[in-house]
Amino acid sequence: MGECRKHDEDKGQAAFDCPACSAEKGLPDGDGKGNLELNYYKDVFKCWVCKDTNSMSGSITKLIKKYGNLRILTDYRLLQPEKTFEDRDETKILVLPDGFRLLKDCTSRDFKYNRAMYYLGQRGITPRIINQFEIGYTTTGKFQNRIIIPSYDENDTLNYFIARWFDKQYTKLKYLNPDAAKQEIIFSENKINWDATIYLVEGAFDHIVVPNSIPLLGKDISDVLLGKIYEKSKANIVILLDNDAYEDSKLLYRKLDFGNLSGRIRICKLPEGYDPSLIYQTWGSKGIIHYLHTRRKLKESIFN
Ligand SMILES: [Zn+2]
Repeated sequence: MGECRKHDEDKGQAAFDCPACSAEKGLPDGDGKGNLELNYYKDVFKCWVCKDTNSMSGSITKLIKKYGNLRILTDYRLLQPEKTFEDRDETKILVLPDGFRLLKDCTSRDFKYNRAMYYLGQRGITPRIINQFEIGYTTTGKFQNRIIIPSYDENDTLNYFIARWFDKQYTKLKYLNPDAAKQEIIFSENKINWDATIYLVEGAFDHIVVPNSIPLLGKDISDVLLGKIYEKSKANIVILLDNDAYEDSKLLYRKLDFGNLSGRIRICKLPEGYDPSLIYQTWGSKGIIHYLHTRRKLKESIFN
């Protein structure tokens, strides 16, 4: 990390030059700003300048994986103060729900496997998709009787999951979210090809049927995702929200269509009552491809 710019041993807080900021300025030995702060009791770090644009925040383990080596990581895990484990609230590590099992590893002999597969089959979800997205299910605990679609970040660390009930519901909630801030993660970040056209969809069930798509987990885009797209995407961005969200789509279009993304945004309008998941369920991949071909630019005048 280079020279330590600040150190408070009581708090476990230290500051260094941010390697990402320094690299951007062409100063590999540090930019002298000390904008990267970390806390080794809490196992967190953050660059105050580029936490969003360069994803420079998270656990110290992530920082070491990015800029250190295996030996440093091993040392850190040995030396990491005990206190870390008491005071963990802000950096709770996300784990898959109790009883989670990959569907591809199960058979009809497993409890409720058939019910789970029946649910997915009804939605047209094929074994290929189930394997590709490592879809699983659980029949116990808080997330019982739910299909689980896990999400991994660019370092293949679990950062979110979707839990959708497939069996008799004991709650009205179709979906139950994990204890993680969805505004701060990019779903299936490890699967995105930033060089190809990217499709923005609303939900995880849309995401798994639309190639190279990112689910917004809602109708608006988070600042984290917006920053990443500006920084990394090299081709077009196509907005493919549910039919009832066409106004949101136009707002999103306007938000994206400037700077280096100017002229690279497209929009699709799905038929009344449809979302990509239902298009897929009804017409399969052919249906998805058909609607992807309807993408177009918006005329400036619609914003006036
Ligand atoms: Zn930085």
